[in-house]
Amino acid sequence: MTDVRVRFCPSPTGNPHVGMIRTALFNWAYARHTGGTFVFRIEDTDSARDSEQSYLDLLDAMRWLGLDWDEGPEVGGPYGPYRQSQRLERYDDVADRLRAAGYAYPCYCTPAELAQRREAALAAGRTPGYDGQCRELTADQRASFEAEGRSPALRFRMPGTDFTWDDLVRGEMHVGADHVPDYVLVRGNGEPLYTLVNPVDDALMDITHVLRGEDLLSSTPRQLALYDALRAVGVTERPTPAFGHLPYVMGEGNRKLSKRDPESSLNMYRESGYLPEGLTNYLALLGWSIGDDREFFGKDEMAQHFEVSRVNPNPARFDLKKCRAINGDWIRFLPADEIGRRLVPYLAAAGLVADPPTEDQQRIIDDVMPLIHERMDTLDQAAPMIGFLFVPDDRLVIDPVDAAKILTDGSVEVLTTARDVLAALTDWTTPEIERALRTALVEGLGLKPKLAFGPVRLAVTGRRISPPLFESLELLGRESSLARIDACARG
Ligand code: GLU
Ligand code: ZN
Repeated sequence: MTDVRVRFCPSPTGNPHVGMIRTALFNWAYARHTGGTFVFRIEDTDSARDSEQSYLDLLDAMRWLGLDWDEGPEVGGPYGPYRQSQRLERYDDVADRLRAAGYAYPCYCTPAELAQRREAALAAGRTPGYDGQCRELTADQRASFEAEGRSPALRFRMPGTDFTWDDLVRGEMHVGADHVPDYVLVRGNGEPLYTLVNPVDDALMDITHVLRGEDLLSSTPRQLALYDALRAVGVTERPTPAFGHLPYVMGEGNRKLSKRDPESSLNMYRESGYLPEGLTNYLALLGWSIGDDREFFGKDEMAQHFEVSRVNPNPARFDLKKCRAINGDWIRFLPADEIGRRLVPYLAAAGLVADPPTEDQQRIIDDVMPLIHERMDTLDQAAPMIGFLFVPDDRLVIDPVDAAKILTDGSVEVLTTARDVLAALTDWTTPEIERALRTALVEGLGLKPKLAFGPVRLAVTGRRISPPLFESLELLGRESSLARIDACARG
């Protein structure tokens, strides 16, 4: 173990989204690459927005993705607790120390007053932002505000210096002092804000590297200043962590991918049958590359090669087609029996099999896997392709749109001819089935293969597109195949 300590610290609001998971993945990879510690911390101090369900979903998402954490919820660790809602007295203590030492001061301004002064600043062409009104209040002035019943917020006193840091991703960064006004650490009602709790926990948890989204860039100078104050009041003796800001992820139309975009929801990927391997592989490419133009790699391989200096600061474009294609590559890469196992929940959700499947259902899954393994990009494509193998003959639904495309006046002749030669077969095997149908339909009736086999396929699978036909007939068995062809011929 090295002393590298990184953290993933989401707020449990709403559903996990891809931007958040990219951040988790990059931190995880950095910890694994350096032999450091991956800390998972829950930033749940906003009681109005946080929910327990969201918290449980986050844990579940991390487990599904295979992003194991060394310290955090359920795992514990020497810096716990790892849910901020359980650390409130620590923040109170730090706030008291900052106030006592003059690094923070009570601010009595009401939201309405702040808004009014902001308007005035804008109108006068001055930079809006807190104007320092409560910085130097006398004891008397404070007392009279208190007497009015105002409960003050706690505001951090910025040091008035410019900021420079060497961003791990973006290189040297400068922010002028006038861009970072004094900011609120604790609300008037006593609720500590992200501005306080996030850097305080980074300090108390000895975090060495902060890798997070570019949307948080503007909080970095504030945190640099706060860190100095935290050292001054004895909260930590450690150096300020190094910061690296991961590039924005752009969606359709070159605007930032938003939490509300459907392709940003992790649940969408899980429901439509992405593999965690495929999704993490794709998300790794959002701002990082393994170096040799390779786009297919596992997360352990990512960890092995992960250098923050190779993160590209330019916005990354989210391409759902590519994400899907990489997922398809992963489905083909993993062994058929493994994919067969992962298909079960999707087949069960479609009402085709029990979970776990019965012995008969398992046998069908094992037999059909070689036929569909190469044909899926997502696991949810399996149920419509192979559903015909699991339904009773009289419950097979013939897709009406497909039927309109496939069935012609000649179809009845095709079907009855097929039925007769299949009924006469002694060996019900793929090569025999193929030979019999080719001889009877292509040679005998003089049909092009598409016209010859389309109606048979529709009759037995209910669809225009299916796994390979002769193999499908073999798997379905003679009795069912003949019954379905008969039924379709009768209309
Ligand atoms: N809880 C913050 C968020 O989810 C964490 C930000 C950070 O990494 O500093 O945006
Ligand atoms: Zn004020």
